[in-house]
Amino acid sequence: MSDDCIFCAIADGDIPGRIVHETDTTLAFLDANPLAPGHTLVIPKAHHERLNDTPPELAADVMTALREVTIAVEAAVDADASNVAFNNGEAAGQEVPHLHGHVIPRFENDGGHP
Ligand code: 5GP
Ligand code: ZN
Repeated sequence: MSDDCIFCAIADGDIPGRIVHETDTTLAFLDANPLAPGHTLVIPKAHHERLNDTPPELAADVMTALREVTIAVEAAVDADASNVAFNNGEAAGQEVPHLHGHVIPRFENDGGHP
């Protein structure tokens, strides 16, 4: 838990999240400003700012959860594919400093995302 971290607050249940998947070490919830229907974020419950400071076993847990969430979310919104990505560090566009992977559903001829 890190003070003032919005994703820690969601993981701790202090603020609501639309949770779609959970394991002992990870949580997945819908993005508040989705780039596409079903846009989901996968986080480790423990606070680590980015991939570089996440223990390898926990990073593996996040990857396993990302795979399961990708399969479930694509099925839920009938997507053709998805972008699965990390913005790893502020200079790379990371706005929330708690590791999170994006699952962004994609559709044929959807024109792409920013
Ligand atoms: P980043 O740019 O850090 O990779 O992405 C942060 C993502 O978190 C953005 O897609 C943004 O919409 C999402 N986000 C920011 N604050 C909240 C929040 O309080 N709840 C949820 N569910 N998503 C959030
Ligand atoms: Zn946090």
